[in-house]
Amino acid sequence: MGIIRKALNLYARMSPTRGKIKPPYRHVTQIGDPRLRKICDEVPLNKIKTPEIQKVIDQLVLVLNRYGSVGMSAPQVGINERIFVMRHTAQQINREPVEVINNRGMYEVPLSIYVNPKLKIVDYQKVIHTESCESVRAFSGDVPRYKEVEITGYNKDGEPVSQIYRGWPARIAQHEMDHLDGKLYIDIMDRRTFQCVCWEEVNISNGKIAIPFTPE
Ligand SMILES: [Zn+2]
Repeated sequence: MGIIRKALNLYARMSPTRGKIKPPYRHVTQIGDPRLRKICDEVPLNKIKTPEIQKVIDQLVLVLNRYGSVGMSAPQVGINERIFVMRHTAQQINREPVEVINNRGMYEVPLSIYVNPKLKIVDYQKVIHTESCESVRAFSGDVPRYKEVEITGYNKDGEPVSQIYRGWPARIAQHEMDHLDGKLYIDIMDRRTFQCVCWEEVNISNGKIAIPFTPE
């Protein structure tokens, strides 16, 4: 670890804001944070519309936007409640090569908010694709997931909702559901495929690159 990085990390530990930043965060918690390993609590249905829960939902959407992600779960903003959000925009999808879009079965998903979601497997066939997670930042690995699932739960207004997802959105939904039970993709990945996504840049730059924990 370089002297500058050491100094910055020391600064973070001694920062006047230390202990004052309370969840829900506007950054994403990283592996090692015990909250990523807890089984999250159900949200009492009469609490969904309270300012506390609405704040968690709003913060999940904010962080989802900030990181340009396709899914975000409450433990990733430091809250152990059963809430996740997902969305895949046309803009995000169109950044991928056509083969990737077809091969992974990507399609547009509008912003969807799930409180107390339950997952039902619709198609038990499993497909393997490379997956990553903002809480295991800068790494990826190959993960088998069911081809088609149904998510039922409650939306932001506490109304019952349900949706069937296949292909890539089914993967997103399974990934986010796992977060609510303290599971990460690294638990079920093919370990030999685990990689640092910038390993080539590490060589090109003589090792002088940093992994930021925020998108900015
Ligand atoms: Zn994740």
